Amino acid sequence: MATERIGLVGLGVIGQLYAGHLIAARGALVAYDLVPERLQAAVGLGATAATSAKGVAEACDVILVALPNPPAVLSAMLGEDGVLAGARSGTMVIDVSTVDPDTSRQVYAAARDRGVDYLDAPVSGGAPGGAGTDGARAATISFMVGGDPDVFERAKPTLAILGKRWFYLGPSGMGSTVKLISNLMAGLHNLVASEAFVLGAAAGIEPETLLEVFDGTDAKSFWLTDYFAPRVRRRDFKPGFSVDLQYKDHRLASDLGRQLGVPLLFNDLAVGVYQAMRASGLGDYDLVESVRFLGGLAGTDIYEVRRPDRST
Ligand code: NAD
Repeated sequence: MATERIGLVGLGVIGQLYAGHLIAARGALVAYDLVPERLQAAVGLGATAATSAKGVAEACDVILVALPNPPAVLSAMLGEDGVLAGARSGTMVIDVSTVDPDTSRQVYAAARDRGVDYLDAPVSGGAPGGAGTDGARAATISFMVGGDPDVFERAKPTLAILGKRWFYLGPSGMGSTVKLISNLMAGLHNLVASEAFVLGAAAGIEPETLLEVFDGTDAKSFWLTDYFAPRVRRRDFKPGFSVDLQYKDHRLASDLGRQLGVPLLFNDLAVGVYQAMRASGLGDYDLVESVRFLGGLAGTDIYEVRRPDRST
């Protein structure tokens, strides 16, 4: 069989990193993003620009989709100029966007009607010391996959270009379900770590001291060591994974909880905190910005720690 021609729709933070890996592995890529500058950035990496998601589908056998939210996925997949309008029967679409399971199932059904294979395959994690976008850059992420098992088998060589682990979780929507649960945990880990480091700073304890100590205590987590710590150390609050996206994921988890009759008390708290950050103009920042946001509420800067004066 001839080499599959590969395409990518969505060239944001994740899409740009994937474009580089796909071009390096396959020598060619057809790409599209609504924002011309992002499309040009991918062309700069060696991609061929399409004029629409439909154009990507017309030119490719395998299409990756990396879009921000359910409306974007529905529009880019089902719209007039969307992927399904241009895809031939037998095309495979691997959607790494984080969306709700109902959206995944809706797109899966529309794709199946056209003979197109569709997987929900959202991503997370990475190598030790390189979670999130660092994991995407290192091509060490994990995929959580829902869809048809034979399509999952066919997708593995493509997944292997971008990541190190893939989990088949069941029919369409199950990848999205597990991803929302994963991000529910990650977003809360982030807020808990932020609150703890603000409390530490207010008590006169440097972030570096807490990181060193917590590496050997029950406070240790993958989030702390592999995402929060590297970013806090290098004072890196550029996304990464934006507050807007984290808020979206908690909102989608909240909807899923309601559908299933599961109270999600802590998730709903996270919705409120990330919403407050967005209302403060911080939606475009990386979610670890929460350590500065919560610090601001406390009048404490974790980078300006003063030892308490015990002399009086
Ligand atoms: P992003 O906002 O940086 O990029 C999304 C891109 O999609 C933008 O360039 C935007 O212009 C484009 N876009 C929006 N609607 C479009 C449409 N209809 N047609 C074509 N292009 C369109 O987001 P990101 O950080 O790259 O994340 C992408 C997805 O991956 C999200 O669902 C996110 O939740 C998930 N994710 C991101 C990370 C991360 O670390 N950034 C990690 C895991 C999962």
